[in-house]
Amino acid sequence: MRRIAVLTSGGDAPGMNAAIRAVVRTAAIRGWEVYGVRNGYEGLIDGKIFPLGARDVGGILQRGGTILGSARSPEFKTEAGQLKAIRSLNQFGIEGLVVIGGNGSQTGSLALHRHGFPVVGVASTIDNDLYGSDITIGVDTALNIALEAIDRLKITASSHQRAFLVEVMGRDCGYLALMASIAGGAEAVVIPEVEVDPEEIAQRLVRAYERGKAHAIVVVAEGAQYNATKLGSYFEKHRERLGFDLRVTILGHVQRGGDPGAYDRILASRLGAGAVEALERGEYGVLVGMIKSQVSTTPLEEVVSNKKQIDLKLFELAKMLD
Ligand code: ATP
Repeated sequence: MRRIAVLTSGGDAPGMNAAIRAVVRTAAIRGWEVYGVRNGYEGLIDGKIFPLGARDVGGILQRGGTILGSARSPEFKTEAGQLKAIRSLNQFGIEGLVVIGGNGSQTGSLALHRHGFPVVGVASTIDNDLYGSDITIGVDTALNIALEAIDRLKITASSHQRAFLVEVMGRDCGYLALMASIAGGAEAVVIPEVEVDPEEIAQRLVRAYERGKAHAIVVVAEGAQYNATKLGSYFEKHRERLGFDLRVTILGHVQRGGDPGAYDRILASRLGAGAVEALERGEYGVLVGMIKSQVSTTPLEEVVSNKKQIDLKLFELAKMLD
């Protein structure tokens, strides 16, 4: 391998820069040249590919977002788009590609692999919904941002005897919401993996107040059937009967924008280096992730065809600790 490229794709995640840096520097040590691709698969199709030296990635380890830019590229989902991307890679003499991203992005990696291009994925998404990595780059930082919001909402909730619904990201995965509820000491949690009756949530809050709590927080995953907006309107309709006011806070993209914490910086550095090692071994078409605290590879075929399961024992734990 003499020349590789690296791109970031899909939603940005804190730690992506640390992963880019690790790829560039561990490849440079081997005497390989590294090229960066601007804006994910879109830049690959348009040939927005440029040399990225070890010094170019100085000062980015601690920064959120991605210096390469990211995009969602509908064209890349087509065969024609994928072939255009491979043409660009060939034009630049690139022999291997590292794709840093989540589920959709790794489906794209698999498409390139099926076309015979040497590609390795790095598990990065704040949603933690990627099979093949127990934890993905960005989750820990996003979780800490959600926690900061919950801690603050608790203070204002206590002052006004007001309940709060906090909606956190995660697409159709409840991991972030569940972890935020345990770490934030929420009174209830609503996730897509567990069916919920809105009245049951309402009664949990009523009981919390009856037990003398000054605040009541419900953490809701954005992908839950009863998301914050739907639950909010249920509570609004039954406000008189329930006897308390409820406010909805949707955290949204705030969760993505933080600077990566120590955990994500280290995880991203390890996985970025792991991707270069996989390319060196000639192990293509795999996702580099963390399994049982070890940097591990899983075939992309397996990654894409499996759904990551959430540990429902943690849901039971959240209910016990409210
Ligand atoms: P996150 O979940 O953190 O937002 P992601 O990687 O899952 O990240 P997506 O928007 O789902 O984000 O995917 C990113 C890009 O990957 C898409 O814009 C598209 O270019 C490519 N992609 C997604 N699905 C496919 C597919 N089925 N085939 C080829 N490419 C795909």
